[in-house]
Amino acid sequence: MTTPQKPDFDVIAVGAGFAGLALIHYLRDAGLSIRVFDKADDVGGTWTWNRYPGAMTDSESYYYCLTFSKELLQEWKWSRRYPDWKETHSYFHFVADKCDMWPHIQLNTEIVDAAYEQDSGHWKVTTASGESHTCKYFISAMGMISQPVIPKIDGMDRFQGPLFHSARWPDGIEWEGKRIGIIGAGATTVQMVPAMCDKAESIHVFHRTPNFILPAMQAPMTEEWEKEIKDNYDEIVAKCRNHVFGMAFDTADGRLAVETTPEERERIFEEKWTGSFRWVFETFEDLLADPEANRMASEFIIRKMRERIKDPAVADILVPKIDDYPLFAKRPPLDHGYLECYDRDDVHLVDIRDEGEPIVEITEKGVRTTKGDYDFDIIVLATGFSAYTGALEAFPIHGVSGQTLAEKWQETSKSIMGVCVADFPNMFIITGPQAPFANLPTSIEQNAIWITNCIRKMESEGYDVCVPKPEAEEEWSKHVAEVHNATLMNEGDKVHSWMMGANLETKPPRVLIYFGGANNYYDKLDESANEGFPELEFQNHVG
Ligand code: NAP
Repeated sequence: MTTPQKPDFDVIAVGAGFAGLALIHYLRDAGLSIRVFDKADDVGGTWTWNRYPGAMTDSESYYYCLTFSKELLQEWKWSRRYPDWKETHSYFHFVADKCDMWPHIQLNTEIVDAAYEQDSGHWKVTTASGESHTCKYFISAMGMISQPVIPKIDGMDRFQGPLFHSARWPDGIEWEGKRIGIIGAGATTVQMVPAMCDKAESIHVFHRTPNFILPAMQAPMTEEWEKEIKDNYDEIVAKCRNHVFGMAFDTADGRLAVETTPEERERIFEEKWTGSFRWVFETFEDLLADPEANRMASEFIIRKMRERIKDPAVADILVPKIDDYPLFAKRPPLDHGYLECYDRDDVHLVDIRDEGEPIVEITEKGVRTTKGDYDFDIIVLATGFSAYTGALEAFPIHGVSGQTLAEKWQETSKSIMGVCVADFPNMFIITGPQAPFANLPTSIEQNAIWITNCIRKMESEGYDVCVPKPEAEEEWSKHVAEVHNATLMNEGDKVHSWMMGANLETKPPRVLIYFGGANNYYDKLDESANEGFPELEFQNHVG
């Protein structure tokens, strides 16, 4: 038995987005020293990296924010229903300034290795410049959709112009008046095309799988709306905490699509077609679980989409067919005028499905498909992310046996409630694999509270090490898989859904998300904390 040396910090966290800032708040409040590293040159996480034209939130602004301070909620003014990345980015500065968080944040610092050292019971974290820092608790605040996927297409290094991933949009790049090729057509492209089409010379979107696209319906934040929100923030925060996707939505009051007459169903679908994901949750409760109800919703969306697209040949490419896959097996994008863009002469859709013209290679001048060459000045890869595990596998994170998370997760990615991983003592993850997919600030704060309470327990009871129990990991993973298999999201592997990691060429699809309801998940976190964290074994010695 050895007595641990004092580490440089109680806590080191990686990532200065919502998760990093939430951790600073909760852990500092608990009297712990914390340093948050980020390789970016600013706070903001996703909103520092995703600077493509049109980048904006798909959650409504007033609950896509941190809720730990009533003052923050009351003082910040959102300008509209869905703020763009610049506004969200300013919000991060507001929080960091107001809560005096900057002394805890070290930017422009990439972490390249993190290792648990059994002798000391500490984590050693190494930066790209070769410095190392130690801590008792190592926390990933790196985000669950942050590691870009770069597709393997022949000739990518041959293109003479700029070619980059949408989440690495170069500062100051002049794209106006240019011929733009966009590979990929998910939520990012659906935002990007309407924002670019007026100023680009032309846009070609290389499109593979159609999406169910829901309307966003942007709206300014009026004084009356803001007052209503600010007068009712406690209720809004509680709504998020108690919602299946962590959103401040109303429920569908137990209404089931399959038990509603066709006329009444149509009326409700139409009445609630007012923008955001609300439509999925406020119309009927069975849309994501019952195939028949899901089909009814899918048919409605298909009809709505086709009504807005003039050219039936374009609609055949853009709009899913009813038997393609269930609604939400792929995350639906929110639309700000995307579908109408294809009515323009300067916006083109290239069908790269097998029955269309698949991409063959990238050339010096552009993209070559099986049917011809397309010349561009700029190529954007809007090809998505390695969700949930990507950032955690991007540099080696070594557990007690020296094995890395990437090695452990090669075949399947297991965790305890998305926050702990067996073999990785004193390590926590904010929204790791097998946590829910939900309004992220809600989940992030719930995770940060659980982690803080766990650390409080360790510090107040004199523990040196918390060891996640392998049997708890097995149990959670089994539960997550059972729930997943009972939903329609389990068909995501048919359509390369990132929600199952089925968009990765390097790994088999897997169960990455807990679909048992974010509200139920938050209850489970609370229960775990109230019961003294039975998923962990606490030790008062190291080595
Ligand atoms: P995505 O939804 O995963 O879409 C990636 C696109 O790239 C798909 O159309 C995919 O086609 C295509 N693609 C991938 N590899 C390809 C290849 N080798 N050849 C041709 N096409 C390829 O990625 P995303 O649009 O970046 O969105 C990812 C997620 O990030 C969203 O679902 C959302 O959760 C989040 N996001 C959020 C916001 C927001 O909240 N404001 C905005 C943007 C993104 P297939 O579908 O055929 O694979």
